[in-house]
Amino acid sequence: MNPLRIAAPLLFFATCITATPHVAAQQKVLNLYSARHYSTDEALYANFTKATGIRINRIDAGDEQLLERLKTEGANSPADVLLLVDAARLWNAQQLGLYAPVKSALLESRIPAEMRDRDGNWFGFSTRARVIVYNKASVKPEDVASYESLADPRLKGKVCTRSGSHPYMLSLVAAVAEHDGEAKAEAWARGVVANFARKPAGGDTDQIKAVASGECAVALTNTYYWVRLLKSTKPEEQDWVKKVGFVWPNQSGYGTHVNVAGGAMLRNAPNKEAAVKFLEYLASDEAQGYFANGNNEWPVVKSAVAKNPELDSLGKFKMDPIGPAVFGKNTPLAQRIVDRAGWR
Ligand code: FE
Repeated sequence: MNPLRIAAPLLFFATCITATPHVAAQQKVLNLYSARHYSTDEALYANFTKATGIRINRIDAGDEQLLERLKTEGANSPADVLLLVDAARLWNAQQLGLYAPVKSALLESRIPAEMRDRDGNWFGFSTRARVIVYNKASVKPEDVASYESLADPRLKGKVCTRSGSHPYMLSLVAAVAEHDGEAKAEAWARGVVANFARKPAGGDTDQIKAVASGECAVALTNTYYWVRLLKSTKPEEQDWVKKVGFVWPNQSGYGTHVNVAGGAMLRNAPNKEAAVKFLEYLASDEAQGYFANGNNEWPVVKSAVAKNPELDSLGKFKMDPIGPAVFGKNTPLAQRIVDRAGWR
């Protein structure tokens, strides 16, 4: 390894991480770029270091910032592992050529095939579902039982969503297109747009709030935002929970849309051995619990248990078998559909 290659990451981390004085020459490190930052992640990383002796240098930032950073750093990037949320983003980073595929019998045996890239480019480590929330005073749950129902003319002026171009929406539209075909999916998207209560705005929590206030009657959210509200001690948020119900969409059809938070080894990773060890650690039962609970998600590994009573209170549901590994590739199609439908 040439000295420049070592110097660049050290300089880089010296400027970014104040809590680490100097790095012993022999100490093994893992440089992690993470779009996740939850309190339980601290224990997760500490346990990895305890088990392997590999110290973690971490950069926390938003998905887009991390991708920009990786593009700018190019071959000199010190990053070994990237953690992102949503298959649309994992797929997008793959198209940018950022990953190095990982061949690991352990990851292949522990992570279900539909929750990882077929060629080992990325792996899902926790799952979340995209569900429908409705105002209990104005909507019956049986009237909003499917994603397709959001285009029903009976819901005219009652639907709130975030931007159609957000990765959470693109992944959902990609899945609908996979099931219903492009033409039907586009007609559906146009129907949803025709039902808007207002222009798309805000994040998922804002949609739940708008449903509670009566600004709209129905919206979409990822489950962890809902569980966060179930745990809230703020009277205002407890009030939203009382006024809003949620349904698992498409239970009599193809099942509810499930997405992942996941990770990948980077093509220019200076510490590839450590990177594989870290990804494998994330698939251990112990790490799965921390990883999932950090954001009120489900572990992706079947044998892992997340002790999360509020999440458990949502109950069981039928999952869309078309997992992130399939609908990631439909992301460009989904973008064309939302653009044509005017779902801004
Ligand atoms: Fe989110």
